[in-house]
Amino acid sequence: MVSKEKLKQKVEKTANALKGAGKKVVSNKKSSSGKGRNKAVQLHRHCRMCHVPIDLKRDPPICGEQKCDDDWVKNRKNEKMVRIAFFVFAAVFLIPLILKGFSAF
Ligand SMILES: [Zn+2]
Repeated sequence: MVSKEKLKQKVEKTANALKGAGKKVVSNKKSSSGKGRNKAVQLHRHCRMCHVPIDLKRDPPICGEQKCDDDWVKNRKNEKMVRIAFFVFAAVFLIPLILKGFSAF
């Protein structure tokens, strides 16, 4: 049978280990906070297509290569279509709901 003393020691050991783990997590959070990162890497953005670092003020946010330019235009058209599709989709679902709500009164 396990003695009370031994059990107590085990519990304390486990508690200390957990405390240590908690400390580790906290210290990790501190080291990965924004301040440190901003010091190391200058503020910049990336080409939306090939993710090459580019100037912060660049508009559109692409590096300027022809391939990226083409992809960017294609992407924008795609985004537009997706947005329109989303609104149509939402309307198809919402209009019957709204009409139902009105008919309830
Ligand atoms: Zn690019």
